[in-house]
Amino acid sequence: MSVIDKYEAVIGLEVHAQLATNSKLFCGDSAAFGGEPNEHVSPITLGHPGTLPKTNKKAVEYAIRMGLACNCEIERYNYFARKNYFYPDLPKGYQISQHTTPICKGGYITIKAGNGSRNIQLNRIHLEEDAGKSIHDLDDYYTCVDYNRAGVALIEIVTEPDIFSAEEAWQYVTELRRLVRWISVCDGNMEEGSLRCDANVSIRLKGEKKLGTKVEVKNLNSIRNVKRAIEYEIDRMIEVVEKGGIITQQTRSFDAATDTTFAIRDKEEANDYRYFPEPDLSPFHLTEEFIQSVNKSLPALPQQLMFKYQSQLGLSEYDAAQICMEKETADYFEALILHTNNYKAAANWMNGPVRQYLNENKLSIEEFGLSPVQLADLLKLVEEGKINFSIASSRLFPAMLGSTYNTAFELAAELNLLQVSDANELEQWVDSVLDKMTDKVKEYKKGKRGLMGLFVGEVKKMSRGKADPKVVTELFEHKLNG
Ligand code: ADP
Ligand code: MG
Repeated sequence: MSVIDKYEAVIGLEVHAQLATNSKLFCGDSAAFGGEPNEHVSPITLGHPGTLPKTNKKAVEYAIRMGLACNCEIERYNYFARKNYFYPDLPKGYQISQHTTPICKGGYITIKAGNGSRNIQLNRIHLEEDAGKSIHDLDDYYTCVDYNRAGVALIEIVTEPDIFSAEEAWQYVTELRRLVRWISVCDGNMEEGSLRCDANVSIRLKGEKKLGTKVEVKNLNSIRNVKRAIEYEIDRMIEVVEKGGIITQQTRSFDAATDTTFAIRDKEEANDYRYFPEPDLSPFHLTEEFIQSVNKSLPALPQQLMFKYQSQLGLSEYDAAQICMEKETADYFEALILHTNNYKAAANWMNGPVRQYLNENKLSIEEFGLSPVQLADLLKLVEEGKINFSIASSRLFPAMLGSTYNTAFELAAELNLLQVSDANELEQWVDSVLDKMTDKVKEYKKGKRGLMGLFVGEVKKMSRGKADPKVVTELFEHKLNG
């Protein structure tokens, strides 16, 4: 048994997601990303004396939305707490957060695990405001502060220590990002900091029940970095323990240039946040009615659609997963299957020619030039044998994207792409193949029946793919055996 196999990693993730509200959590300042530094700052954001916060109802709604999508229990009686600490990017000297009463409790997020799936248990989802940004590299002598982000609404999604490898952590953040985008509560843009992840990592001997001492790696800003940081931490901890050392509880940071982490502070230096209920905001009570209305507004979730596509429409897991990669694609597919019953063909088109076209042209499905009705029209033509799939995808499909036309059938006719099933027309090709291949015809007649494929293939070539192979085969059989 290798050294590594002796140990098991235990991971808990804390993800901050910036809510896609127009304004901030406690005032009307714009929550938009970017802007000139300190453009989105009113006296409330800046924490001037005498200003009062007011809770953004949309942010509360989004937090509940996320909670319901994760099967959390929704807290009916909510209040905010002050988390006090001093930092230049925190203009009030405290952050308004939720301490003992997170708006969502428990719940889980389902991730892919091996051939199946696994529920990663959540501890909580709570609402809080973001801090501003300190910029250290803009000026030679001073640190600059931009308060545009200060007060922007966040939810923090905290898992139980229920993740056991870097790979699982990768899957979890991938799934979380899809989910927040799917239900439109966050744009999921990690590069802009809309999703930020802190990874808590510990190791223990396999079979051990007690959790080991954890370190927390802060502010991972890509899914790749989440994975790399955890991989590095696990290796580092195993090495420490194997050398007889002990793990100290630390906060660490990830250096993407070297794929390593380094300590920024030990736990002894931890802040005492002196939490107390926020006196400037009254507690808010959530009615059943409001929670129900949020629930009703939720779209079908990826897991539900995955199940439906496999169990009801007979799609493969792979096809279903491709379609459910993002909500816009699933929406398109849902519209498409209102116009065709050939679900497998619909999925093949979406995951084949359509995806390829969109990728090649760097387009999103929303920018796709064919409506679901138009694509269904094309599918029908193939299904009815009026055109074969290969000509439909390689010639008619691009033609439909590049021109105006009435129906796919008319355009195919105009471009002379329709399958030729007319026996008279096909017969000429069949005869010319028989004339040309006299030797092969003799062999066939002696019993080499496998040559039929060759004959039909020749006609297909001559017709540039348009000859209906079924009719052609029949013609050959008639002429050779008759
Ligand atoms: P803290 O008070 O240090 O913030 P919490 O108990 O609030 O710690 O947990 C923060 C995160 O760390 C959660 O996601 C939790 O699952 C995770 N966590 C807690 N203990 C451990 C551990 N020993 N190993 C790995 N993750 C842990
Ligand atoms: Mg923490």
